[in-house]
Amino acid sequence: MNAPSHPRRSLAESPARRDAAHFINGEFTQGTSGKSYDNICPIDGSRIGAVPEAGQAEVDAAVKAARAALDGPWGKLTVVERTNMLAAVAAEINNRFDDFLEAECLDTGKPMSLASHIDIPRGAANFTMFTDVVKTVSTETFPMATPDGKGALNYALRRPRGVIAVISPWNLPLLLMTWKVGPALALGNTVVVKPSESTPLTATLLGEVMNKVGVPKGVYNVVHGFGGNSAGQFLTQHPGVNGVTFTGSTKSGEQIMLAASHGIRPVSLELGGKNPGIVFADCDMEKAIEGTMRSAFANCGQVCLGTERVYVQRPIFDEFVARLKAGAEAMKLGRPEDPATGMGPLIHETHRKKVLSYYAKAVEGGATVVTGGGVPDMPADLAGGSWVQPTIWTGLADDHPVVTEEIFGPCCHIRPFDTEEEVIHLANNTPYGLAAAVWTENVSRAHRVASKLEVGICWVNSWFLRDLRTAFGGAKASGIGREGGVHSLEFYTEMTNVCVKL
Ligand code: NAD
Repeated sequence: MNAPSHPRRSLAESPARRDAAHFINGEFTQGTSGKSYDNICPIDGSRIGAVPEAGQAEVDAAVKAARAALDGPWGKLTVVERTNMLAAVAAEINNRFDDFLEAECLDTGKPMSLASHIDIPRGAANFTMFTDVVKTVSTETFPMATPDGKGALNYALRRPRGVIAVISPWNLPLLLMTWKVGPALALGNTVVVKPSESTPLTATLLGEVMNKVGVPKGVYNVVHGFGGNSAGQFLTQHPGVNGVTFTGSTKSGEQIMLAASHGIRPVSLELGGKNPGIVFADCDMEKAIEGTMRSAFANCGQVCLGTERVYVQRPIFDEFVARLKAGAEAMKLGRPEDPATGMGPLIHETHRKKVLSYYAKAVEGGATVVTGGGVPDMPADLAGGSWVQPTIWTGLADDHPVVTEEIFGPCCHIRPFDTEEEVIHLANNTPYGLAAAVWTENVSRAHRVASKLEVGICWVNSWFLRDLRTAFGGAKASGIGREGGVHSLEFYTEMTNVCVKL
């Protein structure tokens, strides 16, 4: 990985400021739909460039190219040839580290200090991580007795599933897109990616990388556009798509599941959350504050795994609230290039309106606004951006929408609790089940509580500590399926049992 070097070139002058393009069958194209829209930078409201919107024709062409690559050169490569090529993709992302970094920060407004440590290096790592899994995982064999005494032998074969549609969100655009594309390609599939309409740049740039390292045309395709009645829907409904892997909101996940039901295509869904943080009185306060600062405010609160409900045991409640408030108020809001920036803007104006509507609802519901609650005063050159204040509330009822609905902003509600049993009930009392963070120095308590939480991922004394070999995904309305390590085999391959009578 290239080390981040400050000071960096101003994003105002970045060559990443340009029009996006579809990437179909190894070629960049504006398509034939004649439709496009403006890509707006959330830092200051400036126009980054134009984005073409794919219609049915572009989606058809991308799916056709993906199928041809599968039946052609890509499908004929050996596992070693394939994984070597993906290692070259990872190396080339790192060679072009600054290009990816600038494109990602322009699209999202996130601090470069964050994207240079998480988004871009993890985006590259997703192409190498699955190499070992592909090379080393075996399948099952069952010798079987038969009445004639000669027996039979069962063994399992795994084949690529086929053409995979990858639909991704805007909060960690490169990282979450390659989290799907990496294993899909490593396991021999081809992909058509529909990145979020708000963050088209890094998916487009990845097309240049694919061509540079010689990935056969049609293996990686990108179509831009919106969800419903646009590129997303055309892609998920396309009969040439063999599986849909999606990261985004629970509402869109429901629509995608419906679309995939035609033709009985499998889905892998990583959806929304309303994640609890549970802070016991026997925690290490420094660790709990540092972790909750990140889990509530990192990426301007736009992390699916983030904590929006914090439960703090009563003896340390006042101290915890005061220290989290001090941390939130010390955070600098500013430009991505500034190494002192701790928080960027929200993704766009529409999302800011949504987050501010929850800020208003909290006040209407009688919350105590511990800090924030509105729009910060920004310098004139940033006034056109989608800025909001990091916000902490106390005092809301457990059934208030601010406590029950995903806001996806830099905010959390903190509530006191008394007993372990009570807090487990509070944490589980939600339709969601993505992640939880538990803060305690009592080892037995940590294991006991973790086993009772209805979530896909439970962190103890940490947050967002990710080993890519582990299962990732949500319970309840937070998703279907698990990806990561060997778990990715379930979605990206189809298994055939071969039974041979001897
Ligand atoms: P979103 O659901 O609005 O959009 C995600 C993607 O789906 C976009 O590319 C969008 O164009 C597309 N889309 C929307 N409707 C579609 C449809 N009917 N058919 C096909 N495609 C469609 O989500 P978002 O606002 O981009 O992202 C934020 C949400 O994502 C939050 O709810 C967050 O919790 C969730 N998220 C979950 C995870 C996870 O791993 N569980 C990770 C990141 C984000």
